[in-house]
Amino acid sequence: MSDNVRKVAVRDCEIGGPDLVVMAGPCSVESREQIFQAAEVVAASGGRFLRGGAFKVRTAPVAFQGLGWDGWRLLREAATANSLLTVSEILVEDQIEEAKRYVDLAQVGSRNMQNPPLLKALGRSGMPVMLKRGFGCTIDEWIHAAEYILAEGSQDVVLCERGIRTFETATRFTLDVAAVAIAKARLGLPVIVDPSHAAGRREWVECLTLSGVAAGADGLLIETHPNPAEARSDGPQAVVLAEFPALMDKARRVAEAVGRRVGAAAAVA
Ligand code: PEP
Ligand code: MN
Repeated sequence: MSDNVRKVAVRDCEIGGPDLVVMAGPCSVESREQIFQAAEVVAASGGRFLRGGAFKVRTAPVAFQGLGWDGWRLLREAATANSLLTVSEILVEDQIEEAKRYVDLAQVGSRNMQNPPLLKALGRSGMPVMLKRGFGCTIDEWIHAAEYILAEGSQDVVLCERGIRTFETATRFTLDVAAVAIAKARLGLPVIVDPSHAAGRREWVECLTLSGVAAGADGLLIETHPNPAEARSDGPQAVVLAEFPALMDKARRVAEAVGRRVGAAAAVA
């Protein structure tokens, strides 16, 4: 369980303790209305972090690249208004200093896991980091990537299993559930699960969420959108916002079965 895991503090939120930390929101921040709607429901469902990308890493250059700094400003505003913290991807070293105003937990994306200059810069930055697993990377490689951050003197690293590429095509990626336990045991850091990018389709998000909780995840990173049909990125995998509270209820019941809690943490001061 979480006993031998180092607890990582992000402001007043502890990751790696008995409470699973729920992070949720849209793939990308798209508008004030969208991110405020998401923040309200995430907070009411026991979430602690509002997620939302502002600088997106898209496979194709013609795809929506995010609202940039305006996206981060909106993310911070919506989170603060609902007593939430923020998690968002930092793409390049140049963004780090300014990002500290808007982002509480710095996400390293799957495609950037093997980018040592970025990892080292984040390790020196004083920001807590959530390191996503590269979708073509082994657990060993993921752990070494985390060591790049730790080697700079940082203690505050959380890993995120988000699915790896396999021969299976029915899901976007394959959630490596064993990796949750293995990475925790090997590195002694909290591991959270992102069922959304693994599933690729919203109908499979629930089973991966629940299996992640059962496997001992210390948190969840879930994409949810008020109107997924209009989402500018990752709409097919976004849980409909109105259905998010029910998903959290199910996660809560599985968490209780394995001696953990979901959404029991106090509001941010
Ligand atoms: C995301 O969280 O929206 C994202 C791009 O994730 P990943 O880096 O895991 O693909
Ligand atoms: Mn996404």
